[in-house]
Amino acid sequence: MTEKRHPKYLLMNGELVLYDDARVHVLTTALKYGATVFEGLRAYWNEDQGELYGFRLREHFQRLVESLRICRMPSPRDVDGYVADLVRLMRANDLRENLHIRVSAYVDDDDGGLSSVGPISIAMAAMPMSRYFEKDGLDVQISSWTRISDTTMPPRVKAASNYHNSRLALLQARTDGYDSAILLSADGNVTEGPGAALFMLRGDRLITPTVTSGVLESITRDSIMVLAPELGLEVQEREVDRTELYVADELFVCGSAAEVTPVLSVDRIPVGSGAAGPRTQAIRAAYLSAVRGETPDTHGWLTPVFAGVPVRAT
Ligand code: PMP
Repeated sequence: MTEKRHPKYLLMNGELVLYDDARVHVLTTALKYGATVFEGLRAYWNEDQGELYGFRLREHFQRLVESLRICRMPSPRDVDGYVADLVRLMRANDLRENLHIRVSAYVDDDDGGLSSVGPISIAMAAMPMSRYFEKDGLDVQISSWTRISDTTMPPRVKAASNYHNSRLALLQARTDGYDSAILLSADGNVTEGPGAALFMLRGDRLITPTVTSGVLESITRDSIMVLAPELGLEVQEREVDRTELYVADELFVCGSAAEVTPVLSVDRIPVGSGAAGPRTQAIRAAYLSAVRGETPDTHGWLTPVFAGVPVRAT
């Protein structure tokens, strides 16, 4: 078990704050009623180029703005403002390694009521992170918990409170001896994992549930839909049945933190040969090359953080 490390600074409402001083009041509405939306992003250190690349920062902050909008919470910044703040934070910490970034936007009044929507505070943390799953491939369980839906707790909103649904599924899976879970919708269609989107290969077709099937609009999912055709794979968005997972040739989950992680079995039924499939491995390699800046950034996905200039906090 490696010791957890943390950066010197976090950013709270645009101000650099020492890690131990980044606090909220215990009565804040964010804590009492779960009035928090957030983003999880990554930045990758490229040793050869001496550069740290933020991955699709604009798309993540656009999704944050959309989450706030749906929750009727005013956004204190526009997308460019959030990007500039995050770059400033990463420069201030001067961490030259892979990072996982959490940006939270929350109702920050002490003792606010149920309808309280302000003031909104923004907290940003860029933490050292190497891997998300302990294993290279996952044994997953179809959860007996149903995925939240657009009519109740919209999964399109990246709300902290939505993750209660994810936690129930994940904790059940872990208790039952699995690595993770896949949740079905109330209609019985496949949705996603507790914190990752899902793709299935059947024949030469790469298939993923639609964005209206009760899933988060995953940025990694979108990236894979761009990269897969470049590898000669046809991508299809459609409803997916549970039993299709049992007969899929390959299966993987993906997300900013999860990257591309093969699923090796579903309900103890091996996926294909039971080992990571060749096309999953090819997609994973293409994704990792893109995020690390090892292939030319033809899609405009990367933000160079240091841009060759070593900047240190004063
Ligand atoms: N679905 C859920 C429920 C998630 O928590 C995540 C991780 N943010 C994803 C999908 C993947 O989204 P993204 O690719 O934007 O990180």
